[in-house]
Amino acid sequence: MQNYKDFLENFDLRLKNYFNQHKSHIHCHIGCSSCCEKGDYPISQLELESLMQGYISLDNNTKINIQNNIKTMKRGEKCPFLINNKCSVYSYRPIICRVHGLAYILKTDCVKIPYCANEYKNYSDVYKNGEIIINPVTENLDTPEVLKDFDYGEIRNLYDWIKNAPQK
Ligand code: SF4
Repeated sequence: MQNYKDFLENFDLRLKNYFNQHKSHIHCHIGCSSCCEKGDYPISQLELESLMQGYISLDNNTKINIQNNIKTMKRGEKCPFLINNKCSVYSYRPIICRVHGLAYILKTDCVKIPYCANEYKNYSDVYKNGEIIINPVTENLDTPEVLKDFDYGEIRNLYDWIKNAPQK
């Protein structure tokens, strides 16, 4: 886990650079949480463990709010860690959340575009007819690729991790 934390420090610096390079096309801002309100949130076991460390570090009220969110959680809908439009476990959030908002190359001739490009948000000024007309980030930022040097375990959607967890 310490290796993963050390890795994240460098990874975040790399991402900061990418977000800076594309800043004129990025519209992420405090209060916009659309990427946390809809999605499957696929995360690995390693990232889940980190997320749980974040949860343990929270105050009791926030934990209760998260527990309440979990009770009403639906597949593909709001992430239970989103509290008052903010990520309650921000420093512990998984890779998919860290890279969200960037357009990057998945493989030759295949670019991953954040879905908010379709909502007149990130890259909407340079995204036309299903194609992006600027150079995307050239690093593949998909979770298995980013974590390829780690024994990251199984990848499941957050819903499945949480709903299949032993109930207390
Ligand atoms: S973990 Fe945080 S950043 Fe990721 S979807 Fe949930 S609230 Fe959003």
